[in-house]
Amino acid sequence: MITHHLSDRLLMAYSAGALPEAFNLAIATHVAMCDECRARLASFDAVGGAVLEAAADDAGVAMETGALATALARIKSARPSPRLKSVAAREGCLPAPLRDYVGGDLAQVQWRNLGGGVRQAILPTSQEASARLLYIPAGAAVPDHGHRGMELTLVLQGAFADEDARFGRGDIEIADEATHHQPVAEAGADCICLAVTDAPLRFRGLLPRLAQPFFGI
Ligand code: ZN
Ligand code: ZN
Repeated sequence: MITHHLSDRLLMAYSAGALPEAFNLAIATHVAMCDECRARLASFDAVGGAVLEAAADDAGVAMETGALATALARIKSARPSPRLKSVAAREGCLPAPLRDYVGGDLAQVQWRNLGGGVRQAILPTSQEASARLLYIPAGAAVPDHGHRGMELTLVLQGAFADEDARFGRGDIEIADEATHHQPVAEAGADCICLAVTDAPLRFRGLLPRLAQPFFGI
């Protein structure tokens, strides 16, 4: 049961093709796991299509008020299709969009130790934003940190909790400059997440800060 979803803003930007590759990866992976966000994305895709059609109909004339009404009507009539089934249940830990980046499932991931049993694997994406898989042993914590930009953290296995909430498989946390958190993996199962960020994280402790260039995060 997924309780933490993508924002409308992120889904719209994704639909418009306006995001860096790393963010596209996180959003495509959540959408592959989440019926609700897949249906909302379909609505935004339909609106984008309606706006383009209207522009074409008007032959270069700016969008008329009727086109907006049509677009809004299409949002309201958009219903989640019963054919859209969750794909996550049929697959291994990694949904399809991620497996292309890893070259397989979890067994193919090239982990690097960060200390304390925490491991990460940086995924190849364009430079504007970075994507990595994080492996957090049950009960262990990610270093306490703030954010200079936006960070999306998608749970693939296990669960973590921070000061604000609990995140299980499929949940996505959206963190920004205002967020300062210390995620801790739940006892019982090791936690694997996909984390993407558009700016280097701002670690509080001296050691993690010195180590940051080495880890590439
Ligand atoms: Zn969702
Ligand atoms: Zn964070």
